[in-house]
Amino acid sequence: MSTCHYDWIAHHAARRPEAVAAVNLEDGRRLTYRVFDRRIATLARHLQEACAVSPGVRVALLAHNSTDTFELQFACFRLGAIFVPLNWRLALPELDAIVADCTPAVLIYDPELAGVADELTRRHGIVHRLLRGPESPYERAIAAAKPLAAPHRLMHDDVCTILYTSGTTGVAKGSIATHGMNFWNAVNCIGVAVLSPQTVLLCVLPLFHAAGLNIYANPTFYAGGTVAVTRRFEAGEALRQLADPMLGVTHLHGVPAHYQAMAAHADFATADLSHVVGAFVGAAPVPVPLLETWRRKGVVLRQNYGMTETGPLILNLEAADAARKVDSAGKPVMHVEVRVMADAARDAAPGEVGELWVRGPAVTPGYWNQPEATRAAFAEGGWLRTGDAVRVDEEGFVTIVDRWKDMYVSGGENVYPAEVENVLYSHPEVAEAAVIGVPDSRWGEVGCAIVVRKNGAAVTEAELLAHCATALARYKVPRTAMFVEALPRSAVGKVHKPTLRHQFRSAVSGDSQT
Ligand code: ATP
Ligand code: MG
Repeated sequence: MSTCHYDWIAHHAARRPEAVAAVNLEDGRRLTYRVFDRRIATLARHLQEACAVSPGVRVALLAHNSTDTFELQFACFRLGAIFVPLNWRLALPELDAIVADCTPAVLIYDPELAGVADELTRRHGIVHRLLRGPESPYERAIAAAKPLAAPHRLMHDDVCTILYTSGTTGVAKGSIATHGMNFWNAVNCIGVAVLSPQTVLLCVLPLFHAAGLNIYANPTFYAGGTVAVTRRFEAGEALRQLADPMLGVTHLHGVPAHYQAMAAHADFATADLSHVVGAFVGAAPVPVPLLETWRRKGVVLRQNYGMTETGPLILNLEAADAARKVDSAGKPVMHVEVRVMADAARDAAPGEVGELWVRGPAVTPGYWNQPEATRAAFAEGGWLRTGDAVRVDEEGFVTIVDRWKDMYVSGGENVYPAEVENVLYSHPEVAEAAVIGVPDSRWGEVGCAIVVRKNGAAVTEAELLAHCATALARYKVPRTAMFVEALPRSAVGKVHKPTLRHQFRSAVSGDSQT
């Protein structure tokens, strides 16, 4: 175990004090590295003196996106404390379970979330609270306190953050991140996205999510660039920010739903996105027709793959390969080892679908308070089992097929819903699509497509199923298609398949005759 210089902000404040570290797009505040560093130092002192924060203490944040999130994160790091950003979109019972799990001593919260914050504070006996916002106790504390005298000396394996997973497949788990993991993730990200002091990242993902914090926000701070934070993603606003020459955005990372919403917006065709050099998409299956829409606009979307548990970045596609490896998430980043397993004992052959296993210095040591879940997640030799089905081609390019948990078996054949969804997305009248397996007396399971039509579109179930039949083997063609107004999505924009299964599995069960 070794120590390292983890105070990236102090480093850049000394080297380039007048460079802009963070922009708060909601109110236009631009914080230079000098000012950002000073605010972090005074906030840390306040947390230490007024809230008794010391190494290992959990500090929770319940707030919308703003530059304050990063301030608090770096203040916790200077104290050796553990930063826990909470998903404010969760219902109270869900937050209750998370707060009971991580037992924070301090809760910092937004005025709009005061009701939930009050309840959590009362139920869990949280001693210190700090209200955020303009002219709030948070701002007064920063203005009043002196800077922290001596930052805590950090080790690679010290826990810096607990990040709860998205809860796409079940209950969110508290994935532990260490300072060493953050460092290696930053190195991995800088390599593939070429981050530098000239980088201006538009940060649209929620900052309680691993991708929001670490692809590429924290790595951009490591590189001495600028992180511009939006309070909440809105497609028209994001297009304006990407095109704004004063802001000069160079990099963006979003989920497919973000890029879909921007592509569907009236300003998409005319928005000048010429200074965006890196546009990245990931966190959920990426429909190929979406990549093609953006390519026609002159923007090459590069796919990323990762998990909360892995730093998160694991795979990334180079721009030069994007045209010939359209559906691929690319190749592993530098400091990671990957394996694809046909089963627990055999590596998959090229082209064969298997489970992706991952090992490296940016991979979590485990889940907070969950030794059983930690043991189940790792195979012998320290390999993390991702639960994702992938295939690797002869050249080493990895394609994410789908999650194992989302696969269903129809007439003895495996069907990966993402492949069927891709075909649905290629229909010009489909805005959103999700496929799940539903019980069928003859085939075991058959596909059910749940589709959101584009505005004003009138495509029918029969037309959609016929469209699928032109591109897919018979057993992959869904048996039914249902139309809905919107798909249930997680806070980060991933389709929540357990909800769809709950809604549609009993309503639609195949009684097929074919
Ligand atoms: P939970 O673990 O709580 O069920 P989650 O797995 O969605 O939720 P995250 O850590 O946010 O939580 O997401 C990681 C998962 O996201 C991966 O395991 C994978 O299934 C999916 N994912 C990430 N990038 C991609 C991608 N490029 N293509 C397809 N799926 C992706
Ligand atoms: Mg997961």
